[in-house]
Amino acid sequence: MTNANLYSALRQGFPTDLQLTAIETDQGLRYSWSDLERGSAMLANWIDSLQLPAASRIAVQVEKSVEVLMLYLACLRSGHVFLPLNPAYQQAEIAYFVANAEPAVVVCTPTNFGWVSKLAFQAGTRYVLTLDEQRGGSLLERAAHHRDVHTPVVCRPDDLAAIIYTSGTTGRSKGAMLSHGNLLSNALVLKDYWGWQSSDVLIHALPIFHVHGLFVAIHGALLNGCQMLWHSRFDPQRVLADMSRATVLMGVPTFYTRLLAMPGWDAQACASMRLFISGSAPMLVDTFERWQQRTGHTVLERYGMSETVMLTSNPYKPDERHGGASKRVGGSVGFPLPGVSLRIVGDNGAALGVGEVGSIQVKGPNVFAGYWRMPEKTVQEFTADGYFITGDMGTLDENGYVRIVGRSKDLIISGGLNVYPAEIEDVLNNLPGVAESAVVGVPHADFGEVGCAFVLAKPGVELQPEVLLAALKTQLANFKVPKHCRVVSELPRNAMGKVQKNLLREMAGKLGSGSN
Ligand code: AMP
Repeated sequence: MTNANLYSALRQGFPTDLQLTAIETDQGLRYSWSDLERGSAMLANWIDSLQLPAASRIAVQVEKSVEVLMLYLACLRSGHVFLPLNPAYQQAEIAYFVANAEPAVVVCTPTNFGWVSKLAFQAGTRYVLTLDEQRGGSLLERAAHHRDVHTPVVCRPDDLAAIIYTSGTTGRSKGAMLSHGNLLSNALVLKDYWGWQSSDVLIHALPIFHVHGLFVAIHGALLNGCQMLWHSRFDPQRVLADMSRATVLMGVPTFYTRLLAMPGWDAQACASMRLFISGSAPMLVDTFERWQQRTGHTVLERYGMSETVMLTSNPYKPDERHGGASKRVGGSVGFPLPGVSLRIVGDNGAALGVGEVGSIQVKGPNVFAGYWRMPEKTVQEFTADGYFITGDMGTLDENGYVRIVGRSKDLIISGGLNVYPAEIEDVLNNLPGVAESAVVGVPHADFGEVGCAFVLAKPGVELQPEVLLAALKTQLANFKVPKHCRVVSELPRNAMGKVQKNLLREMAGKLGSGSN
């Protein structure tokens, strides 16, 4: 049997000279490829010494560091399941994850050790270790006693590699189970589709508790033997300072808007860049166009989710499956990636035609095995013929480009008619003085639900809600026009830059149905 261990595949991408720099951090540290290989071997040997049952969960809630990356690689090597958690989670949230996942090992920050260890030990976790951003903590002390050579355990493609808890904007967060095969198949497709080269240098400024920073960015760099410039957090000044040495940037749309807000950002500053990638949340067409004008580069937008890793991408080079199309289209997330079957279906389950809004369903080697310990939920989210119901609504255009219209749960049904928030937001965003907007549904005695728009003004502009609503009425059918409009100073976003519509719904509820 060939070994489907993801680490073995990534390891094959390392350069022949292991003394070359693999990662340079914003703390001034350099890690060679040999450091990654040896450090992850020591951690894997320590994990092996615990003699855990296969596929034990190793939950990790720490700040971003190269040592966490090594721990992830060690989990792969030893055949256990990496379970990253957002450092922002508080006690009640961690208590839920620990009770749900029953990890054998929990790694936390030294600062949180008191409360994390208490609740983990109570839940039956045997080992609680610490790791800080400066290579301190008990985890590395333990690993230091182990050998720096390790043979990855033999895996089958469907062996579990990681559990990623969804952000859980409604109900309880669910653990998406991703296998070695899911992750490797996606990384191999992206290697080719995005034209990775061993000479690429990636600016890694994303968090690593999420699919984007952990899988898409890190697998891309490791599988292709590319150097990473490692930023512990996103800082536009720092990105600008490193840009002349880099070729690839992966970011959420907020990265791009913050970079655009900085002076000194022009074509000259990006002269060495090959590719700017955006995803995890929709990029405004305005941002896409301003980036093009300012830098001469066209951002490549892609779409994916915790349950599936990457699903679609705008083309990097001509896509033969789509008549050689090579255009990256603003407001679109591009084509289904090779190997991904994507369809848009209506309420009756039938495939819809060009331009019709429906539920996005997908199938492919990258699609997860199901939700951890939620067999019923898993069954509900798959169709009888094996497609995963993403929960996103979208369209396909005549050239095969996919557009996301929003999450199905964000759909507003007003007087029995479907209102797609993205359509209203698009019109609002194009009104003079509007920087950005988000529309949510709020209960209404007569219509069941009506829209409530939250609008952010461009700097120095004062917006009047009545004027905005009047302008919408000239461009949209009346049933689509929100009944309420609030001008706000910011939109609530999660760590990946996604607007948190659940919070806006709560705010809209609290504001009541006041005048606007
Ligand atoms: P997560 O599981 O946290 O990665 O969130 C996945 C969700 O983010 C998807 O189901 C989409 O709703 C959204 N998303 C990801 N990429 C994009 C994109 N490029 N445009 C619009 N929405 C996106």
